[in-house]
Amino acid sequence: MYDNIPTLLIIAFYMVVFLYGSAIGSFVNVCVMRIPRKENIVNARSHCEDCGYQLKWYDLIPIFSYLCLGGRCRKCKKRISPQHLYIEVLNGALYVLIFIVCGIGLEALLFCLAGSALLILSLIDWKTYEIPVGCNIFIGFLGVIRAVYDWEHIWQYIIGFFSVSVFLLILYKCTGGRAIGGGDIKLMAACGLLLGWKLIILAFLIGCIAGAVIHLVRMKVSGESHVLAMGPYLSVGVMAAALWGNRFLSWYLGVMGL
Ligand SMILES: [Zn+2]
Repeated sequence: MYDNIPTLLIIAFYMVVFLYGSAIGSFVNVCVMRIPRKENIVNARSHCEDCGYQLKWYDLIPIFSYLCLGGRCRKCKKRISPQHLYIEVLNGALYVLIFIVCGIGLEALLFCLAGSALLILSLIDWKTYEIPVGCNIFIGFLGVIRAVYDWEHIWQYIIGFFSVSVFLLILYKCTGGRAIGGGDIKLMAACGLLLGWKLIILAFLIGCIAGAVIHLVRMKVSGESHVLAMGPYLSVGVMAAALWGNRFLSWYLGVMGL
């Protein structure tokens, strides 16, 4: 019977992580709606987009409230976008994945917060083709914490800040801003500070490949040309590199006999 306790504890721990993740996911939704409209993300109370009904505390429980209300406003019964539910579940699942891969520690915590910021900027970039500067500053701030915490390797992070961003800045200057957006450059600088130079280069390559492939497929399927928002693809690259990059690099260098 006692054998089961550690397993149960682990499951309970991941459930708590998931609940925290989905609660922050509900804040992600608030940011995605309000940042493009330049509304206050902290103070203003959440309200129904249609009838203005001010949400009570019991309307704000992540996942649970949405399911209980059947995805409708309590007062006017207007449908609430299921994106709210998806983002809460996705953010919760992302936190669990990060803790499973990275273990319990400061790194996992920083990656969770960065993951939510990446989710916010991806959704906003997808809709508006702009990356909010606040998200980049927040990720950069997490990068400073990691660099200071991992003081012995601080140069890895400082070089990471410049390695991809300077390359993109040159590209930006040469093409007059057509090939890449200013927000992407700042994103790569901030994430470089968080990941270090090896992983940010890997993240950038993953982002470019994912972006190119998915963009081509989308254009083929819809038959029209889309403007490419790089933020979501770069974010996927950053998250993949943060979680599995080191393992991939040591495997790759092993294969190459280095
Ligand atoms: Zn309503």
